[in-house]
Amino acid sequence: MLVDRFGRRARKLRISVTDRCNFRCVYCMPEEAEFKDRAELLTYEEIERVTRVAVQLGIEKVRLTGGEPLVRRDVERLVERLVSIPGLRAVSMTTNGYFLPAKAAALKRAGLSGINISLDTLDRDRFVLLTRRDYLREVLAGIGAAVAAGLEPVKVNMVVMRGYNDDEVETFAAQARSRALVVRFIEFMPLDNGSVWNESLVVPAHEIIARVQAVAPLEPVEHDKSDPARRWRFKDGQGEIGVIASVTEPFCGHCDRLRLTADGKLRNCLFALDEYDVRAVLRGGGSDADIAAVFSEAVANKWAGHLINREGFVKPERTMHAIGG
Ligand code: SF4
Repeated sequence: MLVDRFGRRARKLRISVTDRCNFRCVYCMPEEAEFKDRAELLTYEEIERVTRVAVQLGIEKVRLTGGEPLVRRDVERLVERLVSIPGLRAVSMTTNGYFLPAKAAALKRAGLSGINISLDTLDRDRFVLLTRRDYLREVLAGIGAAVAAGLEPVKVNMVVMRGYNDDEVETFAAQARSRALVVRFIEFMPLDNGSVWNESLVVPAHEIIARVQAVAPLEPVEHDKSDPARRWRFKDGQGEIGVIASVTEPFCGHCDRLRLTADGKLRNCLFALDEYDVRAVLRGGGSDADIAAVFSEAVANKWAGHLINREGFVKPERTMHAIGG
């Protein structure tokens, strides 16, 4: 098992299948982003092999991320490969939703269980401002396609940024009440390319909850402490929300996540400054035991948690699109 110095056991692996994306969200990447060459990215066969080793080490769940995972061709084939690994309990995905009208049914058939769709505004002009793309209609259609395909649970992730979209918190909460989806509010994290994030733009979780309570009374829902989101349901039973308070109420003490970047680097934390090269082992003729050793080393060196807003915080070199959320 992969247990770190703080007694936390790694159970979840987030796998970025590409650093590319068809959006240009201002808090994620610059307009002119640089991407890895195709040859630098792990192949589906390599991702499957690494995941098989990870499952033998106790990893139970995989989440596919990007960039935008669905810009890579035939991701449903990778899903099929991964869900067939004995011991892997679930394969889910985080996406911007744009390709879901075309892909949702195929992902469902492939065995995908659960999908998170990133959406930060319901206003078209603001969508263009935040993503530098005019695709709000496509994303809304994508949410509908995910629900229709039965990719449960369908969660909508909203990054709340003061002065950008925080006036829509109540509108998104109302969405969670009227539709079969969960809305999760995410505190704005410093993983942009340095051009946007500052502490004053962070809307703290307690403020978000207070504002949603104004929509309708909430009650807490029991949840696994290792899950990033704290959950609430509306007392009148209609819908659920989640809040991910990474900045103001860090949950690192229960962290059970590791990340594999699209170019095969293992990260033991979203904000990690060190990486462990799995691709070099794969392409250097290494054995499964050698791959397992990389996992063990990464976990053995995992720190207690991020230092955002504290002395010593250093922003990672990679921006969000090259880590995969
Ligand atoms: S910041 Fe790092 S240690 Fe903390 S919860 Fe996120 S991944 Fe885990």
